[in-house]
Order: sequence, then C-alpha cells, then structure tokens
Amino acid sequence: MSNAMIDFGYVRPRSVAEAAKLLADEPEAKVLAGGQSLIPILKQRLARPSLLVDVQALDAMRGIEIDDSRVRLGAFTRHAEVAANARIAEALPALAHMARGIAHPQVRHMGTIGGSLAHNDPGADYPAAVLGLGATIVTDRRRIAADEFFTGLFDTALAAGELLLQIEFPRHRRSGYCKIPHPASGLVNTGVWITRLGDGVRVAVNGASPCVFRHGELEQRLAAHFDPASLDDFQQPAQGLNADMHTSAEYRAQLVAVAARRALSMVLSH
Ligand SMILES: Cc1cc2nc3c(=O)[nH]c(=O)nc-3n(C[C@H](O)[C@H](O)[C@H](O)COP(=O)(O)OP(=O)(O)OC[C@H]3O[C@@H](n4cnc5c(N)ncnc54)[C@H](O)[C@@H]3O)c2cc1C
Repeated sequence: MSNAMIDFGYVRPRSVAEAAKLLADEPEAKVLAGGQSLIPILKQRLARPSLLVDVQALDAMRGIEIDDSRVRLGAFTRHAEVAANARIAEALPALAHMARGIAHPQVRHMGTIGGSLAHNDPGADYPAAVLGLGATIVTDRRRIAADEFFTGLFDTALAAGELLLQIEFPRHRRSGYCKIPHPASGLVNTGVWITRLGDGVRVAVNGASPCVFRHGELEQRLAAHFDPASLDDFQQPAQGLNADMHTSAEYRAQLVAVAARRALSMVLSH
C-alpha cells in the first residue's frame, strides 16, 4: 500500500444549492460530515475523492424540531446532541438511548445522524431506528420512506450527489432497542429495534446481516401477542446472516433472539 499523500480539494459551501452544484460538477467529490467513517476510509485509501464538500455550515442540515406528531432532526445533528437532548428523550426515549450507546464520547461529538444513514454500515445503530420507526428521509430532491432507503451493504437509495438534509421520525414512546455491541468499537454486532404501533408492530434488525432489515416473523408474532411468551419458541435461521472473525452466523442467529427479548422488555417497561 502506498503511503503517498492523497491530493484532494476541500470546500465548505454556504448553501444547499452551492453544495449540490459542487457535487454535480465534480463526480469524484464526496460529502464530508463528521468524518468518523469517511476519514478512516481515506486513511485506508479505500476512497480517493477529488474534492471534499464539508456540509457543516448548511443551515438546512441543522436543528431539532419536535411537535405533537414528529421529531425532525437535521442531518448534521451529532450523536451527542441526540443523546443529551431532553426533548428527544421525552418524545423518542429509545432513540436517545440508542445515541448514548454509540461508540465513545469522541465519536459521538463528531459523528452525525445523516452521515451514519448515508454510509449505511451494517454495524451502524441509527438505521435500525429509522427502519423500526418508519421514518422519512428528506433530501434536496425528494422524500424517501425508510422502507425504500436501505438498499444493501453500504448502499442506500441516495443518488450520486444527492444530499440528505433531514430525518423525520414519527413520535413513538413505545419503542425499544437492544444491541449486542462489538466490545472495542461499540459498533453493532447484532441489534433489534421494536416499535409497537396502534395497528401493528415494526421490528428492524441491524448488524446481523449485510443490511438492516424488517423482520416479518417477529412482527407477526408480536402483533398477535405483544408479550415475551410469544418469543419463547422463536428460532432465527442462520442462513444469510453475517459470519466473521468475531461471530459465526449460528451465534448471530442466537443473538437476534436475545436482542429481540431485551428490546421487547424495554418497550414493555415504558
Ligand atoms: C471508533 C469508531 C466507533 C464507532 N462506533 C459506532 C457505533 O457504535 N455505532 C454507530 O452507529 N456508529 C459507530 N461509528 C460510526 C460513526 O457513528 C460515524 O459518525 C457515522 O457512521 C458517520 O457519520 P459522520 O457524520 O462521521 O459521516 P462521514 O464520515 O463524514 O460520512 C460518511 C459517509 O456519508 C456521506 N455523507 C455524510 N453526510 C451526508 C449527507 N448529509 N448527505 C449525503 N451523504 C452524506 C459521506 O460522503 C460519506 O460517504 C463508529 C466510528 C468509529 C470511528
């Protein structure tokens, strides 16, 4: 591997229109948010952008707005802000709990929710909340439902140069999240998010497979009986789950069941 410095440009646009034009004019440009995923990628020479478009000055990516029905977060909201915001803890307690469990203080004070969602690392926490709550992603071009957003390993519905501006969560106090973390990084080995809706249940599983996914069987079981007993004979097949040096697919399958029980008990405790 070459240790030569990578030559790239750096700009900090003042408007979404300016940022969008920079990205359109320079196909090899990349958005820079908190840099907690992108900078390690650059250090490892896994990407060689010609230009970094730093979005920290964009007002359209800032702010936390909460009303009776929803919580709207600017994409540049840092994990530490979500973790510490008392109004988020009141409106979406499981989201605040999730943010408090991301990595360590340094990453939480730099990393952003928009960066986490755009990157869609299988070990990221927020995709489970977005999918498990049925949130909406707002970009500079359109609104994308959570069910359409996460398309694969490190892949999303975002088109080239499309900017993630905001995330709109429906307000739900009846959610729970449990992750079994990697002991060093805190990244998700296996996690489960459960939301009890008025007319059903949403269950999202992260970490266990290449991309976060909704778990149809768990949703059906819990919609029939929102009770720990409904998970007693649940068994997750190992097929299709991630296997790596930390955890076999069979062990991850066990962890899905464990995390589901713990997430359910968190919902029931509210
Ligand atoms: C040691 C360590 C431990 C970590 N542990 C955890 C953990 O426990 N849980 C967890 O969830 N995450 C964890 N992370 C990842 C961390 O949360 C990152 O902050 C996050 O994944 C990326 O956010 P960022 O703002 O740093 O994005 P960046 O690194 O700046 O960008 C990431 C990617 O998203 C794109 N992007 C960023 N913002 C936008 C936008 N608004 N619109 C379009 N594209 C955009 C960038 O171009 C880039 O491709 C960890 C990271 C480290 C280094």
